[in-house]
Amino acid sequence: MQRIAVVGGGAAAACVVESLARTVREPCALTVLDGGGPLWRGRAYQPDSGRVLTNIHITQMSLRERDADHALRWLTRRAPGSVDDDGLTSRSLYGAYLDDTASRAWRRLAGRGWRLRTVREHVTRLLPDGDGVSVGTAGGRCERFEHVVLCTGPTVPGDPYGLATSPRYVATPFPLARALATVPPDERVGVLGSGLTALDIVAELVARGHRSAIVLASRGGVLPAVRRRSSPDRPRHLTLTCLERNVAAGKPFRTADLLKLLRDELRTAGVGEAGVLRELALTEPAVERLRRQLRDADDAGLGILRQALHRFAGHAWNLLPDAEKAALWQRHGRAVTSLCCPMPQHRAELLLRLLESGQLQLLGGLSGVVPRPPGGFDLVTRDAVAGVGTLFNALNPAAPGTGAPSVPEVFVTRRLDIGHPLGGLRTDRTTHRVPGAHNGRSGLYALGHSTRGSVLFQFGMPSLVYQSGLVARAIAACTDTPWEPDAPTWSAQGQGDPGG
Ligand SMILES: Cc1cc2nc3c(=O)[nH]c(=O)nc-3n(C[C@H](O)[C@H](O)[C@H](O)COP(=O)(O)OP(=O)(O)OC[C@H]3O[C@@H](n4cnc5c(N)ncnc54)[C@H](O)[C@@H]3O)c2cc1C
Repeated sequence: MQRIAVVGGGAAAACVVESLARTVREPCALTVLDGGGPLWRGRAYQPDSGRVLTNIHITQMSLRERDADHALRWLTRRAPGSVDDDGLTSRSLYGAYLDDTASRAWRRLAGRGWRLRTVREHVTRLLPDGDGVSVGTAGGRCERFEHVVLCTGPTVPGDPYGLATSPRYVATPFPLARALATVPPDERVGVLGSGLTALDIVAELVARGHRSAIVLASRGGVLPAVRRRSSPDRPRHLTLTCLERNVAAGKPFRTADLLKLLRDELRTAGVGEAGVLRELALTEPAVERLRRQLRDADDAGLGILRQALHRFAGHAWNLLPDAEKAALWQRHGRAVTSLCCPMPQHRAELLLRLLESGQLQLLGGLSGVVPRPPGGFDLVTRDAVAGVGTLFNALNPAAPGTGAPSVPEVFVTRRLDIGHPLGGLRTDRTTHRVPGAHNGRSGLYALGHSTRGSVLFQFGMPSLVYQSGLVARAIAACTDTPWEPDAPTWSAQGQGDPGG
């Protein structure tokens, strides 16, 4: 009986268990190790206020690789009316879907003779040896497995301003219902970051009747783009067929090739380049950009750019040389994150209303945060200092090349030369297997945040479902005949919406 360990028991682990149950026929011994949160929900989908919503369409958040409506059917049955017109639902309910689906997969495996167990301990050491991996825990266990899947998720957001011990600093804001419960409605509140997590905090504060100012402060001062409802026509140039043609011709794929495909796409659609370049350069003031995007919700150039990022960029990224990836991310990473993690229209309208009324302030160019005894903080930019009381950390680890490594990742990269130059572990794009010593084969696989150097959009549910399918098929190939002989190839299956 082959032994499989899943390190981390959050949303990615739920994807792995579901994929194993659908793909691997031969009974194996499966161990899930997680020393922290509730199994299968991870950090993002814990029980919380029903107003804290998912940020991508529910049909892109199915745990089943080839059944896009699975999550929607579950929610419709269990909580009728819980999916809004944008296809979004409460993160807490989605967590219940993850929990139920993974638990059912677990029971199916048990019924088929798998030996299953969970170990509630933190993993501190991973050591590929031969074609297996030794796993060590903080509690002193050490066991060897033929296959180990690393799913430790994003590390808790960092503490770049050294505030961890300051009173009234909230390092991790989730669950929001608990984190916001003690904030007085007349206190000036600060939020570090201006992405989706920051906006969740703003919306929840306002829904709870917060009356005083809320200050969003970050270095970039960039807000998420406004989500579109309509999709552009099918792409003609930014397609996987075009990429495959490039691969088949044995030509290296470079940034210039990517830009040429984008230009060809815009030309074919009769759309000028100026709007797209402006989106990528992010030179417009944030509030003007928000107003424009709300006004021109169906701008064709923006639609083409977003479609390219969702359906194509992840695959193109895999083919680019590392140095060009790093340069592209440095120039356009903020714009890409903003476009790929958009906010729904109703949230954008709320934000604009708050900004125009002055209740919400957006500070870009944050250079420091100074605690103000006995409680409170000064948020410092080149032009201003804003005083706030409670301060929430809404900084998310961004991809790629940023975000702290997990403990097992640090251990394994110190021992072996398997780190990716842009962070995380090197992984094979068709199996998500991490290379062994001297580029040999190992039994270690990585999913999600630990692949942040290799994979462009590694953290959203569509990507995790896709990656877990690859891992399950790679494990099945070592154990038995896969159940799904028509398994999609990398080119047929998108990495989908980045989510997050
Ligand atoms: C606030 C927020 C909202 C999001 N919303 C969406 C969304 O709407 N749609 C979407 O597609 N994506 C969304 N995302 C992206 C989201 O991160 C992923 O969808 C998913 O939750 C990541 O799953 P994961 O298993 O990789 O990490 P997690 O779910 O965080 O799970 C990691 C698990 O590993 C455990 N662990 C960590 N270190 C160790 C160790 N050393 N040993 C043992 N166990 C360990 C932790 O205890 C945890 O349970 C969101 C992310 C955040 C932070």
